[in-house]
Amino acid sequence: MPRTGMSLPDVDVSDRQEIETRYREPSATKWIRTVLPLDICELLTEPVFCCTTAGKMVYANAAAQEWCQRSLIGQPFLSLLIPESTDKGTLFFHDALLSTPQSPTIPWELAVNVGNTYNLANFRGYLKHDRVVIVAQIENERDSSIHQQMLALTSDLAESQRKLHLQNLSLINQIEDDLLDYRTEMDYQKLALDEHCIMCKTDPRGTITYVNKQFCQISQYRSDELLGNNLSKISSGFHSRAFFHAIWKTIRRGKVWHGEVINRKKDGSLLIVNSTVVPFLDMAGKPYQYIIISTDITASKQAKELEGDRNLVLEMIARNQELPDILMQIVLMLRHQRPDVLCAIWLLRDGAMHYEAGSGLTEEEMRPFQATRLTADMCPSISAVSLHESVLLNNITDTAICQRCHHLAIQKNLYTCWSVPVISKEGNLLGMITMHYQKGKEPTQDDMHLAYTASNLVGIAQEQQILTEKLLYQSYHDTMTNLPNRFLFEDRLTQALAHANQYRHNVAVLFADLDRFKQINNTLGHSIGDTLLWQVAQRLKQRICQEGTLARMGDDEFALLLPEVGTPHDAVRVAQRLLDSLKDPFQIEEYNLYVTASIGISLYPNDGEDGMTIQRHAETAMHRAKGLAYHNMQFFAPEMNVAALDQLEMETHLRQVLDRNELQLHYQPQYAMDGTLLGVEALLRWQNPTLGYIRPSTFIPLAEETGLIVPIGRWVLHEALRQIQAWQQAGYPSIRMAINVSAIQLACDDFVETVSHALVANHVKPCSLEIELTESTLMQNYERLSHQLSQLRNLGVRIAIDDFGTGYSSLSHLQQLPIDTLKIDQSFVAGIGNQSDNPERGLSIITAIIMLAHSLNMNVVAEGVETPEQLMLLRNGHCDIIQGRLCSMALPASDLEHMLANARTLSDLLNPDCLTA
Ligand code: C2E
Ligand code: CA
Ligand code: CA
Repeated sequence: MPRTGMSLPDVDVSDRQEIETRYREPSATKWIRTVLPLDICELLTEPVFCCTTAGKMVYANAAAQEWCQRSLIGQPFLSLLIPESTDKGTLFFHDALLSTPQSPTIPWELAVNVGNTYNLANFRGYLKHDRVVIVAQIENERDSSIHQQMLALTSDLAESQRKLHLQNLSLINQIEDDLLDYRTEMDYQKLALDEHCIMCKTDPRGTITYVNKQFCQISQYRSDELLGNNLSKISSGFHSRAFFHAIWKTIRRGKVWHGEVINRKKDGSLLIVNSTVVPFLDMAGKPYQYIIISTDITASKQAKELEGDRNLVLEMIARNQELPDILMQIVLMLRHQRPDVLCAIWLLRDGAMHYEAGSGLTEEEMRPFQATRLTADMCPSISAVSLHESVLLNNITDTAICQRCHHLAIQKNLYTCWSVPVISKEGNLLGMITMHYQKGKEPTQDDMHLAYTASNLVGIAQEQQILTEKLLYQSYHDTMTNLPNRFLFEDRLTQALAHANQYRHNVAVLFADLDRFKQINNTLGHSIGDTLLWQVAQRLKQRICQEGTLARMGDDEFALLLPEVGTPHDAVRVAQRLLDSLKDPFQIEEYNLYVTASIGISLYPNDGEDGMTIQRHAETAMHRAKGLAYHNMQFFAPEMNVAALDQLEMETHLRQVLDRNELQLHYQPQYAMDGTLLGVEALLRWQNPTLGYIRPSTFIPLAEETGLIVPIGRWVLHEALRQIQAWQQAGYPSIRMAINVSAIQLACDDFVETVSHALVANHVKPCSLEIELTESTLMQNYERLSHQLSQLRNLGVRIAIDDFGTGYSSLSHLQQLPIDTLKIDQSFVAGIGNQSDNPERGLSIITAIIMLAHSLNMNVVAEGVETPEQLMLLRNGHCDIIQGRLCSMALPASDLEHMLANARTLSDLLNPDCLTA
């Protein structure tokens, strides 16, 4: 080998000879090749320097050259440092001279001159024979012991290689010495690594040629199962092809690869390792084998992942994300930890467990589960978790063990089920976590820990949801009165307007403000004021029931939204109810407090097109009401005040009508065509001292709306029967009494009973009473009605259809009801006998009705007969009975008596021509 003239320490010539010989030995060469990755030192990222004992650098690896950005060989070590660090550097160098490879110096922080600036790095050094090996650590990330060991191993060797490269005999001598030393050292190191690490060797194609004990232990494979196989045997399938491609690309180039690899153990579970792959290169620089040194980081990695997943779930909870999303994330967490286990989350609702989320099943397989409600009798897990206990069930394919799991267990080859309850902070059962395992795999300690972690998270998530709902409720409600607040009110108003727009009805907003409330607050204190507000709210709420949304808008301001009102009067009535509810005093402590309110009303769409306007106008109306008088109401639109308040006034009077004895019955006679008086129809009359005479067509609908028709109708019944009794006794024994009954009366359960009692009480035979029901009444609630009518008929009471022809009743329907009389509406009668009109057309309808009625065995009454022509036409049409102005209007009883005394028959009343014409 040619020598170079580089000045290196002198070596004894005789020794040189010997070394040269030894070096030439093929075995020695081979050994060098085997143990020395020739340029491994060059591949290290840590700067490595080799100095003479005098401090002159004889070697610096590529990382060192790159770092210092200048040529270093032959330069003093101290020239690396900035002038300020030279003294410290001198001390360090002395320290290194005294240190050995086994115990190098402690790290010294020195400042290295790099271009125009400097870098701080930790330097360690030691003396090896007559060379000082120095390693700098610029970055601390690579703290793995393996790298340290590799470094210690290789730096000297690299230096030796450099010497070899220089083909200096004295160097070879040196190398040889080193090699011999390192061989033993390597053996130790190898032993140490073998003990400590998971090691394996492969040939250049990746075929396993060596595995150590740890490798077998951790992978669960025997060595004979691995040797001769490709590394892909332990592949997990987690990495892409590109991932392996990149590794191969690096190591084939002779570079070290370092990174994390997810492998799979023999039992299928994951094995995550931190690996270093070191290529061993031949003289031509081609790898002839790879050594893979790994550390098992599965546990720490999974723990880290679990922590990451857990934090993610907690973050989702904190961010108030949807519960299903959170549960899905918890499932994902379980899956990351145990990809081979079927996990599911169940929540308790209405006494049954509901499947919420799960992993390990396809959508299809999950479907039957999703609809499952689990109860304790189906599943022993439920019985256990109901007692707040976790339970492990084996042999779940057996239906005797668990009906629920049976099918799935067979299908998926499951054997064991581990169930853990989800319990709230207060100790209530919220749900459960289930984990299903295949045979031979039971939950480990880690799994149990995992299930409890999941259970905790589910518990927190659910409690958070409950809290969120509570907060949501609070944000939409007034804390003092528990009524909806302004936000909820406005929300509902918007909804109501949209609905009203679509279905074309009215929406009313009532704005109520307590009168002189400030005074109470100021004189009696806020605590009494608050209690009063609370009590007021409760009273108002009671009066509203489900009719609308009552909200507290401010201090003593309340608003009521009526989402669907028919007429403005409906709103007035509700407003009146609110005012009435405040009539009684509020008893707070020793005070009896009287409260009044002022209410403003606005209507959509009449008073505005949007919620804001409607609300503002109700408020304006409220102020106007306050200005008029306390305990008052006002519409926003002035014209409505007149109409609605008139009606309100009428209603107020109507409520007192019976007490004040303001009602009277007038009687209109009904005659048969032969002229005999058959009976009378009782018609209500109301004369009020303030309002004057009010027509039945005005007050009857109001009485029906308010329900007042029931007591009024009862009065009519008694009064009419009392009268008929009087007349029968006075010598009109066969006279009949017809009374009008509205649908509301008929809807009362005790109607038939009321009638029969009244008949008995007044000693009137049932056949003297006829009840008139309008066509529309008969069409409502047909089933119930036909039952009631049968009962009346059984009593012997007659039944008439009033205003026939104005509704849309089908005669086929009516024919099944027990009806005696059909009264043709006056509008039909008015249409006949009129010259200017076409009399024939109107007549033909009447004739048809009469024929039909007769075929159903009904008597026909024509109402509103006003002219002799009409009478004549009706008689020709075979109408049975007539009633109308032509004979007599409805008269007070005494007037009627007077009239009857003079003319008992129709012919007495009328011009005889009419009857014969
Ligand atoms: P109705 O049962 O159809 O009563 C007949 C109406 O026609 C009565 O009006 C009567 O005065 C009127 N009338 C009678 N003859 C003629 C005529 O020749 N020409 C015209 N144009 N009208 C005539 P009234 O008394 O104003 O009653 C109106 C409605 O009020 C009644 O219609 C009835 O539905 C209701 N009503 C009256 N009294 C009672 C009652 O006690 N209870 C109930 N529920 N409703 C009643
Ligand atoms: Ca009638
Ligand atoms: Ca009628």
